[in-house]
Amino acid sequence: MNSHGAPQDPYLVGLDLRGRRVVVVGAGTVVQRRLPVLLAAGADVHVIAPEATPAVESTPGIVWHRREYASGDLLGAWYVLAATNDSVVNAAVVAEAEVQRTFCVRADLAREGTAVTPATVAADGLQVGVLASGDHRRSAAVRDGLRAVLTGESDGAPSNEGRKAGLAGSVALVGGGPGDPDLITVRGRSLLALADVVVADRLAPPRLLAELAPHVEVIDAAKVPYGRAMAQQAINQVLVDRAREGKFVVRLKGGDPYVFGRGFEELEALAAEGIPVTVVPGITSSIAAPSAAGIPVTHRGVTHEFVVVSGHVAPGHPDSLVDWDALGRLRGTVVVLMAVERLAAIADALMAGGRPAETPAAVVENATTGGQRTVRGTLATIAADAAAAEVKPPAVLVVGATAGFTIAADQS
Ligand code: SAH
Repeated sequence: MNSHGAPQDPYLVGLDLRGRRVVVVGAGTVVQRRLPVLLAAGADVHVIAPEATPAVESTPGIVWHRREYASGDLLGAWYVLAATNDSVVNAAVVAEAEVQRTFCVRADLAREGTAVTPATVAADGLQVGVLASGDHRRSAAVRDGLRAVLTGESDGAPSNEGRKAGLAGSVALVGGGPGDPDLITVRGRSLLALADVVVADRLAPPRLLAELAPHVEVIDAAKVPYGRAMAQQAINQVLVDRAREGKFVVRLKGGDPYVFGRGFEELEALAAEGIPVTVVPGITSSIAAPSAAGIPVTHRGVTHEFVVVSGHVAPGHPDSLVDWDALGRLRGTVVVLMAVERLAAIADALMAGGRPAETPAAVVENATTGGQRTVRGTLATIAADAAAAEVKPPAVLVVGATAGFTIAADQS
């Protein structure tokens, strides 16, 4: 490729990137789709870009150098991605990489790089990569077919194009599950593979986006807490506009679309415009996060109820619609989402309502992802315990007897 004359087939290889420096120049949607895969491989990822999409900005585990690329930035890199929207910069990155003999992918002009990213699918402990001489649609289509075979979905059913008929101009609100890309439903995954446009939340499993074909438009609807925001209005409008253009739009959300996901607001907006909508439920973090930490939300003879509560406004706040006194009187499991910044106030409110201070409590952070952590304590201590462990969103608070259970099951 690059300076080596006639194109020949590239050599397909698997890189061991564990602990190895990978430099990514650029921080747009292409990068957003590569980061989860690089991080899953254990790479030491350095992103160089003056600006980043909210999803890149909030990706845990990367080092973001908030500035323009400068020569010398690739020093020590084992692998490089040139993915800015400036072809001059991309060319300079490829050139520097070439000089120091580091393989480099060029996102805008794949043939000009010294490495190419295959279309990949991971299933059942296998990793499959497909290259098709730069024909991205073909490699993606073959990859989709392989995925169907590997996951047992291939049963002589019609091809993608066949299944796609009828979806043009419609929207699917799809629950992406709690984080692990395997925890989306079969229906959600197959609709995702047919999408022309994907509008994704920050909590939508990023690895699902990494598997999309390059021609799929990915729109980042990330609502980073206290950070940059794309108003719900604007999200609704994008869904409407793209569907009107005749596209099949998948609105991919974390967990279940109807559990604190504003899914019904989007349904209303689309219905008002006469746009057909399908809703695909998802595995909600309110059940999966405790489960992933070994905590059943019910248990025979112990807990006959579980309640899922939003902690996004503090108890006592005029906007709060939650009866914390009533929750304090419950004996079962209380699961609180969006509570990390208000753990102390929430624990106090439950105790004020009558829940004993020694009730077991746990906070589960980044459940079902590589970054999963659990902090355990009691209702009296959990806020301080979580603060000491520097727990950050996304995390769920679980309160109740089962939060004290400690036999961990194998989740995989
Ligand atoms: N619709 C989503 C919830 C959206 S509200 C669902 O059904 O799961 C966002 C909150 O969900 C986060 O603040 C956090 O409390 C919780 N959450 C989502 N994903 C999580 C994860 N992987 N681990 C822990 N909590 C998670």
